[in-house]
Amino acid sequence: MTFAIVAAMQDELATLLHDMGRSATRSVHGRREFFRGELWGRPCVAVLSRIGKVAAATTVATLIHEFGAERIVFTGVAGGIGTATRIGDVVIADELVQHDFDASPIFPRHEIPLLGLTRFPTDPALTADLRQAAHAYLSQDLAAEIDAATRAEFGLDSPRCLQGLIASGDEFVSDARRVAQLRADFPDLLAVEMEGAAVAQVCHEFALPFAIVRTLSDAANDQAHVDFTRFVGAVASRYSHGILRRLLA
Ligand code: SAH
Repeated sequence: MTFAIVAAMQDELATLLHDMGRSATRSVHGRREFFRGELWGRPCVAVLSRIGKVAAATTVATLIHEFGAERIVFTGVAGGIGTATRIGDVVIADELVQHDFDASPIFPRHEIPLLGLTRFPTDPALTADLRQAAHAYLSQDLAAEIDAATRAEFGLDSPRCLQGLIASGDEFVSDARRVAQLRADFPDLLAVEMEGAAVAQVCHEFALPFAIVRTLSDAANDQAHVDFTRFVGAVASRYSHGILRRLLA
């Protein structure tokens, strides 16, 4: 069973390649480097998706056709949209929507034409495993792996693991008015990012189990670009690595 790990960020991929070590073999398809090897004793292929829906969809299609991926886990960061979300919380998707998709009035806004779907569900079993892994990481590993000063700096005192709707679009959301629109469009929305729903659509079309985990790096407001950059540099890849280790080991 080949497990595919798709990382949204270079730092995340780097920590995984460190663990793959000498077992990794590299190949290039469509300007992406794929690394096949073992992670915590399991056959895996790891790749950087790059940013946006087209990049993510292309990456997943290649994983299916060239690597025979049988399960896909996507990791990255996201902006928190839910009123109770905080930087450092983890969001596991149970559904994904393309918030920028609009073929109305021919089709209902946000519906993907011909599939007749607006929200794409993740695989329930893989999602439950991922949620358990994230919960275990947050409650048992995080405090030992991220020092107290860094935790204090980012306010990571008791980060939570949430599960729910994630929206994706080709847009970095950094504006309170845009957040208000997204909340109005999707009242149950927890987080916004730029790839997950594309992964979801491709996996749906190929009937491939997938799950998505995002650590909240910012609140999608006018501070988002500052928060995002600091968080990604200091802690994001530690979360991804720790959660994947809990999932696979
Ligand atoms: N130059 C940046 C670009 C990052 S774009 C870089 O260092 O790579 C933001 C990435 O993080 C995307 O992959 C997206 O999925 C996620 N993300 C985090 N916060 C987001 C937000 N507020 N809006 C949209 N995407 C966000």
